[in-house]
Amino acid sequence: MIEHGTPIRTRAWAPAGRALALATAVAVAATGLAPAPPAQAQNAPRGLPIIRDTEIEQLLRDYAQPILRVAGLAKQNVRVVVLGDRTFNAFVMDGRHIFINAGALFDAKTPNEIIGVFAHETGHLAGGHLMKLREQLATAQTASIIAMLAGVGAMVAGARAGAGNVGMAAIMAPQSAIQRSLLAYVRTQEDQADHAGVKFLNATGQSSKGMVELFTRLANESLFNSRYIDPYLQTHPMPAERVAALAALAKASPNWNRTDSPELQLRHDMMRAKLSGFLDKPDTVARRYRLGDHSLPARYARAISAYRHSGLKPALVLIDELIQAQPNNPYFFELKGQALLEGGRPADAVAPLRRAAQLSHGAALIEIMLAQALNATNNKAVAEEAAGLLRSAILREPEAPEAYAQLAMAYGRKGDLANADLAAAQAAFTRGDIVTARQLAARAKTRLPVGSPAWVRADDIVNVKPPKARNTPN
Ligand SMILES: [Zn+2]
Repeated sequence: MIEHGTPIRTRAWAPAGRALALATAVAVAATGLAPAPPAQAQNAPRGLPIIRDTEIEQLLRDYAQPILRVAGLAKQNVRVVVLGDRTFNAFVMDGRHIFINAGALFDAKTPNEIIGVFAHETGHLAGGHLMKLREQLATAQTASIIAMLAGVGAMVAGARAGAGNVGMAAIMAPQSAIQRSLLAYVRTQEDQADHAGVKFLNATGQSSKGMVELFTRLANESLFNSRYIDPYLQTHPMPAERVAALAALAKASPNWNRTDSPELQLRHDMMRAKLSGFLDKPDTVARRYRLGDHSLPARYARAISAYRHSGLKPALVLIDELIQAQPNNPYFFELKGQALLEGGRPADAVAPLRRAAQLSHGAALIEIMLAQALNATNNKAVAEEAAGLLRSAILREPEAPEAYAQLAMAYGRKGDLANADLAAAQAAFTRGDIVTARQLAARAKTRLPVGSPAWVRADDIVNVKPPKARNTPN
């Protein structure tokens, strides 16, 4: 599992081009509301650490896919992105991603609760709701809502970035009335998403009980804890009548009493153990997973916590015990490899990572880590193997900066400076550092045969305009 300080790349956050513009134009006509201008939209979730982990992503894909399929969104390649934040939150913004906080994954005791959250969020996606508006409400900043409303005029006038400056004069209604209509609008969207969510769960033969129980818990939280509430409640107001209506709808389903399979529950518990091991302090892990608890999740959490905080030696003992318990679990080998790699023993990390890559049928993130271990051995003989793994992984993970950085290193070791420059340029580009990306790409062009595929890629980067100068969001 790895955490990134900067999520994907900056322009991935811009509204999804024409499709979204169309959806919002319709919504504007219907309600008089508008989304934030693109310049603001780009900045929204920046700086939030993204958690990348094959085991967790695979599980969440298994949660989300059946729902997305019955919602008719299977072809849109909606990705679930895990944010390294301990509060409870889940949201959609651009029609291509469902964001969920590690805190929500950890709070949810059953797969069904998270599947319920996904069903509800998919309801927002399928309904084409104004995600940016909801996100703005989450920050509860009147100023930004007003700036956003100012965008109405700008949008109608066909203006682009900088729409926020169009002026307050565009707003005729008093602020409180605007807020009331915004809230009423959000409430309507919530009811629609609840209904759609139950429909999707029914269509997949699953219970909506998890969604009801989760929302009931959150509604109670908002009643009894006014000092601090989870961000989810700010975008998802939970008045009692909403939860009651949802419960009535859900209980009417023949699936109400269906439960998750024990296998799925175990995968869920392993995910929670992993998140705790990686994100919690050792004493918190020790409190959550008491020493007398010999379950696999408890041992997983303790092994991860040991590698993070107690050093390699005690960690390896615990990890090897896990491998003994499940000799075909790719993620135990991945953990062993990661512990060895980060513990300064890259040569020893290679074998377990190879095994993890094999057992996971070539999971891209694991192959990237294997290539990183190969690179770190400083052995020129394995540089081509590392480069091959990375080229293949990048086809599936085209926005992973560390894959390009490792690829640059592998090419450098082989003495292929032209491709090293190009890969380094791509690494900078995916990090959002356009200036460095262009410099490196320009140098790569001088070293590559003019017109070759690599030269064309370098040329594309040289011609990229910095985000602020972009006129068309994509
Ligand atoms: Zn909602």
